[in-house]
Amino acid sequence: MKSQVVGRFAPSPSGRMHLGNLFSCLLCWLAVRSAGGKLILRIEDLDPQRTSRALSDLLEEDLRWLGLTWDEGGSTGGPQTPYYQSQRGEIYQAALEKLEALGLCYPCFCSRAELHAAEAPHLSDGRVLYSGRCRHLTPVEREVLSARRRPALRVQVPDETISFTDLRCGFQQEHLPDTCGDFLIRRADGVFAYQLAVSVDDALMGVNLVVRGSDLLTSTPRQIWLQQTLGFAPPQYGHIPLLLAPDGRRLSKRDGDLDMAHFRSQLSGPEPLLGLLAWLGGLLDRPEPVSASELIPLFDWEKLPDGDVTVAADQLLKALEKF
Ligand code: GLU
Repeated sequence: MKSQVVGRFAPSPSGRMHLGNLFSCLLCWLAVRSAGGKLILRIEDLDPQRTSRALSDLLEEDLRWLGLTWDEGGSTGGPQTPYYQSQRGEIYQAALEKLEALGLCYPCFCSRAELHAAEAPHLSDGRVLYSGRCRHLTPVEREVLSARRRPALRVQVPDETISFTDLRCGFQQEHLPDTCGDFLIRRADGVFAYQLAVSVDDALMGVNLVVRGSDLLTSTPRQIWLQQTLGFAPPQYGHIPLLLAPDGRRLSKRDGDLDMAHFRSQLSGPEPLLGLLAWLGGLLDRPEPVSASELIPLFDWEKLPDGDVTVAADQLLKALEKF
């Protein structure tokens, strides 16, 4: 028997949802619902400086207004409670100890400036490849440095290539040492890193379908490797196009007029917005008001655009006014 599809929304409540987040949420919801799956809402509030409970409550309210329902998680709770990453520290600590027991972790004392030094190799997506400098410190050197600075923790990646087939982007492969290098699993301030938390949570929450923006495609090999190393079966991945501003920048929370506060002040219901998003995603021939559930039978991975989608904010807002 084929097991039920389990997907997740994994928003970081660091601001009001904007058009880019809505696009990912809608397509994730449709991919999971059209497969008869269930959805988990996991609040990715690891960073206490950037996220808040008030924002995650608002996010839930916005999802409800859009009709993007979830089955467990967030304030709804469920069998894997808590669904707030800020409350799952002990779970991440246990995973970290497993990696430590495998001899894969080491403290890193490098400062930001050292990591981003001009001579550090930069990857095509702007990330810096870590040189592995602190991997070779002697115990005495570690002790001396610890007295001066609290270290971050890195995991040592093996000489391995990770491959997977993405539902939209097709076959992908990455040689870990060349494309990610030893990566952070806990920051110097004690906050667990996204890569560790997301890998552990997806596995423990039984997620078998991850649908998210293609900006996270380069994180996937690290997550697959972590899951395999911790003894979990990795999920299936589908990375969807990003919405870009005409200058090539990713639409972000800075594009204030394209956020939920604005849409909800202008619209009496979500249908025009959902129709616009579905049209941008290739599911409708033209933008027209539609409910989330009406879109379920229209979802098809084959219909999604091949590349990222450029949107001009003023034109979109005008289109919405016309509905
Ligand atoms: N929390 C991440 C974000 O909001 C998404 C993580 C994921 O989908 O893996 O960008």
